[in-house]
Amino acid sequence: MNSVPSHADVLIIGAGPSGSIASAILHSKGHSVVVMEKQTFPRFSIGESLLPHCMEFVEEAGMLEAVNNYGFQFKNGAAFRKAGKYGFFDFREKFSEGPGTTFQVERGTFDKLLADEAEKQGVAIFYEYTITAVEFKEEQALVSYTDAAGNESTITTKFVLDASGFGRVLPRLLDLERPSDFPVRKSIFTHIDDHISDENYDRNKILVTVHPEEDDIWFWLIPFSDGRCSLGVVAREDQINSRKEDTIEKHIQRFVDEAPELKALLAKAEYNYPAREIIGYSADVTSLYGKNFALLGNAGEFLDPVFSSGVTIAMRSASMAANILHRQLSGDDVDWETEYSVPLKKGVNTFRTFVESWYDCRLQDVIFYKDKKKEVSDMICSILAGYAWDEKNPYVKEPNRRMNVLAEICRMGIA
Ligand code: FAD
Repeated sequence: MNSVPSHADVLIIGAGPSGSIASAILHSKGHSVVVMEKQTFPRFSIGESLLPHCMEFVEEAGMLEAVNNYGFQFKNGAAFRKAGKYGFFDFREKFSEGPGTTFQVERGTFDKLLADEAEKQGVAIFYEYTITAVEFKEEQALVSYTDAAGNESTITTKFVLDASGFGRVLPRLLDLERPSDFPVRKSIFTHIDDHISDENYDRNKILVTVHPEEDDIWFWLIPFSDGRCSLGVVAREDQINSRKEDTIEKHIQRFVDEAPELKALLAKAEYNYPAREIIGYSADVTSLYGKNFALLGNAGEFLDPVFSSGVTIAMRSASMAANILHRQLSGDDVDWETEYSVPLKKGVNTFRTFVESWYDCRLQDVIFYKDKKKEVSDMICSILAGYAWDEKNPYVKEPNRRMNVLAEICRMGIA
């Protein structure tokens, strides 16, 4: 492997989706980029169901062919179940322009594919290199890291992009952390050999099942292309703790037993893989940028897993930041507030309304209402497909007001 240079135009912390996409875009525009990644790839990561909008950034980064050809599970929509009710969205019928299909992926494989593609394009990625400190000087930053052998060293750079995900390196080092508005939720999850024989089960869609009695508890079932599924439960910590079991596998199965339709679907499932848990993942920051740095993806804000928006937000932030940074490094005046923070938050806030209205059941009532007008359904579908920044969509322009009105008319049965 090449040795780390003493200087790079851009230093990127982390080689997840946001780091790989940003690195490839910047490299293609002629900037020297170094990516430092704490772990070796492939490594496990949660976040396996993608949204079609993210394919636009995969394409921008020159990785579309590799992703399309890999053999990941095709995905064209999202399906929802709740105590006998069923609703689904086919992303190809969305209101906004752009791709209508995507994939469900094991993130270890997917993230390695993106990082390998970036490397093939010429990006320098250093694995088992951990960023430990950053000192911002007038025109550059001095970044400290440790390598795989534990040796400490530094690199100077004109700009740092923090793509460290839940590592949240700069928010922690620069005291930018701000608590999320969302309650602390916990997720327990695993992969299963699903052996689903129900011919009505659509493997091309993520299935979100609402707990029949506690409608703020939900399950994801994300099929992969090899007969396995990712299965997870999301609930408040007290709801999880009230059903304690010896192992996380049993804990998950206990929840599944409480949801009869999901239990029937998974009647022959085998729990053959490690189970994991994650708690308190919702996070926010006081600022998404500062002098000579910007935060991408989960290093900025993370809302909630329910609409699988994480990777899409991560990739969109990477594309936006890389393009603004390219102009800055080329000598243009840029304004990170009006060009990055405000427009990025526009879409994040659309998702925020969707997440809030999921948990307070406005959106659940919309989803399970059968007689929605097609044009309204297509607008909701667009946001579920990731197009949360398309201001031609009234549900992006005024998400909360529109959602209130729609929920009300669905509840009255007149939408
Ligand atoms: P990551 O993918 O987390 O990558 C960050 C990288 O930075 C890691 O490889 C890490 O090793 C590295 N790093 C950390 N610290 C350092 C350091 N000090 N030095 C160097 N490198 C470092 N999203 C979806 O799109 N679909 C889903 O279905 C979905 N489901 C989810 C379910 C749950 C329960 C949760 C909690 C999240 C889910 N998400 C989902 C969100 C998704 O996991 C994230 O939004 C996404 O992975 C963010 O990508 P990223 O590039 O910002 O960071």
